[in-house]
Amino acid sequence: MISIVIPVYNEEGLIDDLLERTVSALDAFTSDYEIIVVDDGSEDRSLPNLLKWQSNNPRIKVLSLSKNFGHQAAFTAGLEHASGEIVGMMDGDLQDPPELFQKMYRKITEEDYDVISGTRTGRKGKSNRNFYTFLFHLFFRNVAVIQNMENTGNFSMMKREAVKALLSMTEKVRYLPGLRSFIGFKQGSVDFVRDVRTEGEPKMSLTKLFILASDAIFSFSRFPIKFCLYLGLIGTFVFMCAGIYVLIAKTLGFAVIGWSSTLLSIYFLGSIQLVSLGVVGEYVYRIYKESQDRPIYFVKKFYDGNSNK
Ligand code: UDP
Ligand code: MG
Repeated sequence: MISIVIPVYNEEGLIDDLLERTVSALDAFTSDYEIIVVDDGSEDRSLPNLLKWQSNNPRIKVLSLSKNFGHQAAFTAGLEHASGEIVGMMDGDLQDPPELFQKMYRKITEEDYDVISGTRTGRKGKSNRNFYTFLFHLFFRNVAVIQNMENTGNFSMMKREAVKALLSMTEKVRYLPGLRSFIGFKQGSVDFVRDVRTEGEPKMSLTKLFILASDAIFSFSRFPIKFCLYLGLIGTFVFMCAGIYVLIAKTLGFAVIGWSSTLLSIYFLGSIQLVSLGVVGEYVYRIYKESQDRPIYFVKKFYDGNSNK
């Protein structure tokens, strides 16, 4: 069986299109599948719309979370409730084409891949968002400890063993594309052009996108802490030069050490210390989050065709 996991948050206007397209894309190559739509605490009519679909089609299951936990938590919830031997992940706004699952499935079954992710060869539409995403991938490629992640997101398909490995990592700060790359196995990709949203506004605000990007950088690179180290080294070098100058000036008797040099050094040292403290603080915060060990999500109800009848 194939399971497809789709998170939605306030997507009432999109659900009919989404399920129509996904069902027909899957019908084109398999009859043994389930679609698990995770309602991430929507406040609009997403849930009733989903339940209407669920009651008419036994292959559609709806996992309703107790509140909005965020995109990555919603995917995790869906993955934990999927029972297929092969599991696909897709955003609910049709920016990723469900028709591509057929190609992913072929690669997994015929070429024995364990993980196939969708690589965006381009993005339709011009927006600041696309530009920020481009910048993130450019930066992340250069600092990440994991490889071949550029321009891949959540859109992917995996064998059960890979899903098990992915879910065995119980860290609370989750960047799923990074975790998926981290597990290894035989990984491949299929190319696609990322569409524009067919309806509504993005549900990941720029703040949420920024948090996701910093989660990725903190979880999968040593860049932040190295950055502090380099700042410290540069500071040390600058002050060694300044120190030598001061000593020479003192010996030669033209020591006009005024307030400007004092102020500059205070500012410079102070800012290095603040930046470093901030970065260390981020690490402490992340350790704290992990040690709290709170669940990543709570389920209000799983409408899987058994429990709600
Ligand atoms: N989403 C979610 N919870 C959230 C934010 C978003 O489940 O807190 C869903 C959203 O409904 C969509 C998918 O995650 O199906 C991707 O969100 P969006 O399109 O806003 O993000 P982007 O395309 O910018 O990555
Ligand atoms: Mg989107």
